[in-house]
Parts: sequence; C-alpha cells; structure tokens
Amino acid sequence: MPRLSIQVRGVVQGVGFRPFVFRIAHVHAVTGWVRNRPDGVEIEIQGPQSSSDGFLIALERERPTPARIEHVAVSEIPEVDGESRFEIVASGASSETRPSVPADLAICPDCAREMDTPGERRYRYPFTNCTYCGPRYSIIEGLPYDRPKTSMKGFPLCPDCLKEYTNPLDRRFHAQPVACPTCGPHLRLVGNNGAEISTRDAALEGAVAALQRGDVLALKGLGGFQLLVDATSQEAIEKLRKRKRREEKPFAVMFPSMEQLEGDCVVSEEEARILASPEAPILLLQRRPGAGVHEAVAPRNPRLGAFLPYAPLHRLLLKEANRPLICTSGNLSEEPMAIEDADAFERLGEIADLFLIHDRPVLRPVDDSVMRVDEHGPSILRRARGFAPLAHPVAVDAPPVLALGAHQKNTIALLHRGQAVVSQHLGDLHSLQGTRLLERTVRDLLAFFDVKPQILACDLHPDYASTRLAETLAAQWQVPLVKVQHHHAHVAAVMAELGLDVPVLGLTWDGSGFGTDGTVWGGEALVVDARGFRRTGHLRTFPLPGGERAVKESRRSASGLLWELFHSLEVIEARYTPSERPLLQSMLERGLNTPRTSSMGRLFDAVSALTGIRTMRGFEGQAAMELEFAAEGVTDSGAYPWDFLEEECLVADPASMIRAILEDLRSGLSARIIANRFHGALADLAVAWASRAQIENVVLCGGCFQNALLARLVRERLVAAGFRVHLPISFPVNDGAISLGQAWVAAKQAELTA
Ligand SMILES: [Zn+2]
Ligand SMILES: [Zn+2]
Repeated sequence: MPRLSIQVRGVVQGVGFRPFVFRIAHVHAVTGWVRNRPDGVEIEIQGPQSSSDGFLIALERERPTPARIEHVAVSEIPEVDGESRFEIVASGASSETRPSVPADLAICPDCAREMDTPGERRYRYPFTNCTYCGPRYSIIEGLPYDRPKTSMKGFPLCPDCLKEYTNPLDRRFHAQPVACPTCGPHLRLVGNNGAEISTRDAALEGAVAALQRGDVLALKGLGGFQLLVDATSQEAIEKLRKRKRREEKPFAVMFPSMEQLEGDCVVSEEEARILASPEAPILLLQRRPGAGVHEAVAPRNPRLGAFLPYAPLHRLLLKEANRPLICTSGNLSEEPMAIEDADAFERLGEIADLFLIHDRPVLRPVDDSVMRVDEHGPSILRRARGFAPLAHPVAVDAPPVLALGAHQKNTIALLHRGQAVVSQHLGDLHSLQGTRLLERTVRDLLAFFDVKPQILACDLHPDYASTRLAETLAAQWQVPLVKVQHHHAHVAAVMAELGLDVPVLGLTWDGSGFGTDGTVWGGEALVVDARGFRRTGHLRTFPLPGGERAVKESRRSASGLLWELFHSLEVIEARYTPSERPLLQSMLERGLNTPRTSSMGRLFDAVSALTGIRTMRGFEGQAAMELEFAAEGVTDSGAYPWDFLEEECLVADPASMIRAILEDLRSGLSARIIANRFHGALADLAVAWASRAQIENVVLCGGCFQNALLARLVRERLVAAGFRVHLPISFPVNDGAISLGQAWVAAKQAELTA
C-alpha cells in the first residue's frame, strides 16, 4: 500500500478544491488527508496502486473549472499504520501562511442546469451558487473566508441547505454563500421614487417588461449597481446616453447566449473559451456590421465589448428579455459604482426608470473585467471581477510595501512575501467617492492580509489624491515614502509581472505623467533596472495651450505643436471661432497656461485633429482610437520621416512628419492613409530608440499601447530588428498597473539597501 505526498501549486483556494479532493479520495477509496498550504494545497493518500492512480488521474482531469493548477509534485513517503479515512485537516497555522482572498466567479454549468430545471429546489432562483461558483470578494468582510464573515451572515441556512453545506460529498459542501428560495435573498422591483412595485418572480417579470419597452433598469448586480438597456433600440440607447451624460463612449453588451453573441461578433475558439470561463470578462471583439446590436452602442467603432451572463440574475433577465442588453457600471462618468441601495437611489435616480434590487449586501464595488485577444494571446485591459484580488508571484525579498497608484483607472498594490496583491480597478480619483473608495480599499487589503506596510509608494505628481493619502499615511505610520516617476512605474509593472530581472528599454507612451524635469512626460524611452531608470529618448516637447483643457480638445494639441514647430496657427485656425483665436494666439505667444509636454497621447490627438478625424474629444482616448480605426486595414506601408536631435537623450522631432502630413492633406490624400503612415512612423521611432539604447529586451507600456494596431506594428518592427519585445498580459498596459510598478520599484530599492 504505497503512500504518496502530493503538492499542488496554483489557484486552488476558495474554489472548492479541498472538497473536490475529498470527493475523489472517497470515490477512489484512498485514506489520508488534504490541507491548505501557503502556496497551494498539500495531500497525502494511501491505498492500492490502482486506487492511487485513479485518484491522480481524477485530480488532473476532474478538477473544478475555477482552479488553476500550476504545478503538481508527487513523491512516495513511508506508509502510515491504522489510518481508516480521508480527512480535510486545518491549515497549519504557521507564520509562513499567505492568505488568499478568492475572486468572484461566474455561475458554473451545474448551477445553471439546476436553475433551468423545473422541479429543482433552485429552479429560477437568482442567487444559486456552489463551491465552484458565485460571489466571493464582493461579499467577504474578513478572513478566514467563512459564512459569518460574509454578507450572507444574515441568512441562516434552512435544513436542506445545511445538509448540503455539511455533506462532504455534496457540491455545496462549505460553499459559504449557499442559499435557496427558502432561506436566501430575494428580489424587489422598486420605482426611482423608492416605492416598491413587486417582489420575487413578479419583480423579475416587471424588470423584463421594462427592458422590453425601452426603459433604463438599474440592477443590483454581483459587484455593484449596473445600468441595463435594450441594445437593439436606438431610442433606449440614446435615452441612457443623455441621462448618463455619456455621448459616444462605447458601452459593453451582454448577450443571452453564445449563439446570439456570435451573430454580432467574430469569435475565435480562444475567445469563446474566455467568454465562457469562470472569470467571464467583457471581451473586445470584431463586430459584424449590420447585426442585431444598434450602431449607437459604439458609434464608428469596429469593435464591441461583449460578454455573457455571469450571475444567475443576469441569466434570468437576459433569457427572458431575449435580446442583447447594454450592461454598464451604475455611476456617473468615472465615479465608482454604487453598491448600496440608498446611494444608488440618490446617484442613479435621474438615470434609471426602475431598480431591481435584493437583500444580499454588496460589500465592495467590483467592476467587470475587460480583456482582448490578439495574435499573441489574451491580455487584460481592466482587471477586476474574476481576477482581483488574486495574488501574483513577484520575485523580490523586501519588507511589506503598499503602493497607492496614480490618478486614473487606479488600483493599489500590496507586495509582501514574494507575492503582489493588486486591488480591483477603482476608477478615477477625481471625485470624493473615488478617494473614499481608495481609503477603504487600503483598509480592506491590510486587514485581509493582516500586514503593516514598512514602506509606502506613490506617484511623483504632488496633486494626486493618491499622493496626498500616501503622504498622510507615511506620517501616521512613520514609514518611508518612495515617490516613483509615472513612466518608470509603467515599465517596472511589466518587469514585475513577467519576472524580467535584466535591464530593459521601456517605451512608455501614454497621455501624461509628472516628469522629473517639471515637464509633462508621455512619449518616453527609459532604460530601467533594479536600481532605477535613465531617460534615453523622448519626443520633442511642445506647449499645451490651456493645460488640462487640451486633454479634452485635440485641436489644442495640434495648435501647440504647430506653434512649436512653425510659429504659425494658420492651418488649424478654422477649428476655432473668431473670438477664440486671439486668446489662443496670445496664450501661446506669452507662454501662459501652456505646460510643455513630450506626450505621445497628445501627439496622437494633434494628428487626429490635423487630419480632421477628430478635433474635439468626446471621451478619453477617442481621438487616438479613431485614428487607429482609420488606419486599420490600409495596405499602404509608408511611414513619415523623423528628425532626431542628439542631446543627452535621442530627441524625436516631428517637424518633418507634420510638414509631410500637411502636404499630403493639401494634395487630397485620404486621412486613412495619413493615419496609417503615422502609425508606421511610430514603429520606426521605436526601432530608432531601441537601436540607440542597445538593449535587447524592450518593454512596451502606457495607455497608447491599448491601440492594437500600434502594438502590433511596433512589436513586428522591433522583432524584425532583433529585439525581444514584452507586453503585459495579466495586468493592464494602462495606469491600472502603476501601483504594481511602484511597489516593485520601492521593494527593489529596499532589497538593494538591505
Ligand atoms: Zn455552481
Ligand atoms: Zn436554503
């Protein structure tokens, strides 16, 4: 009777893995035990050879879908006498324990089947879940993850649920949020005046009818309030846009089924797998023109953010409404999502006609994650539901570091014991709600992981709410504060994620970040290693008339650039009213409110405005996005020229390029070809900077690389020139990864000085 020790590493906690091991041990009649370990689970089994083999095969083949096994090590150990059963034993309480907080999971196939089967206890029950699926992070108050420490504590289990919960052979053994129609939460349909209209099934039917007649429904979802509206009705979409003050920014669309989704979007095998995964993110897909979803969902956009129902409640709504629905965060602009009923009535009362709510409290906002797949595989653009706050291994040996990120698309990161925990996407910090959520998330993460940070990290920008909070906390806790330059943090985030421990050249191209020389950076080439960074290239700086306002109006970027290069505003004058012109001219002449920038995002804006593709901006990145879409599919392989100035850095001067663009415009060349040649020029620029730095490993990061065409062209050209190119996969290429980069920089500094 051989005895085996089995070490399993990966995401195996909070996903029903130990009950699963218990069940297969029972089926294959082996004795022994299973317990959680800091980095996975540890199993010992004993039984005849055929039983052990059967157990090992089942471990590999039948594991719960949400579990991700990274590594299994099996070794033979001495037999144990007198063992009569298999047990789940308590985790060894050692100081080495690294707790993990499970992420929210989409409904599993078994629970979906139960919901659809008349006569089942949970037939049409909107809060069905089991050990393999359902809410986690959004309902956890504290660790260890147990029902009394979740927002389900107010729902005592009925005898039937208790039987399932305590039976090790049941799929709901120790499923903390388990519930049924007898003992669990229920639906209520409420008007935007707060008056109850109906409950339970009638509430669901009322909500479906409202969606079908084109009303805006506020839904208390898994991770907070969402706004839903018929995605096939122009009138309904326009109503939502007007009320939400969101003119053109694309909405994500939830489809009742994979078949219906495939009718509107082109879906590869890999994309289908991701859509149906337990993380069930929004996936950016190629849209089929003229399909069911109305153009107004994402005007002039060849892509669509599409996803499938992930909560039982979504499944019921979508199935019965039987049409694709816009499903967007319940907020105004970039504020955090509402999670409490009272707050939702106050903030969404003017937007929604009806509220479909329930009595299971949502404890923290968890947005939908956003991903895309390109020829190099999937990557995450917004990391929240399904992924946060799962830990990521980072090879660094330093005291605990807490990093508070930047200002937009913000996250925070805790780096401790060789792993980084990055919070869910928190959104922008412009609003009071945003900064409150930041403070709350700091408290949450520190409590979950029971850590007192020894080092704090933040951005170099003095006015960010994250910087101010970091300064306050550093004084309170009396710990050092490391301020990390924005683009340095961008590159470091990719190094941390991919475990790059060699010097890299980071091409960090984005909208803006506070530079060490007082200018606004954003078109940078930085050489980064564990000790710090060195700037080896940047765009020639130009003034931004109106500062922050230039971010909202791409014509201002064009004006600043033309003034810098040619001291003339002639070609852009028509984009201003006669009364605006003298003001602009004098602002530039006298250098008033005209911060200088080397931002790639603003260069995109300028070219977008010059070509007439977009002179004003509706939402962040729109001018650049439309330039990308214009260039897509153009076969012309030309590229505009650059001039280079050898200073301390290799400064890229766009003067010749802009002159050529203006000539092409005069000769009537199509904006699509101009857009394509501009992208080609940026790929050339990447090669020029990489060749000058003479560093083999090149990291591409910053919001500009959300542009799929730019990422592809730059990568291809660099690879052809002999460089190794790295882009992030599990963390966003945009500011959502800044906190991870800050934490890595601060930890590396501590490691070096230890
Ligand atoms: Zn389930
Ligand atoms: Zn029950």
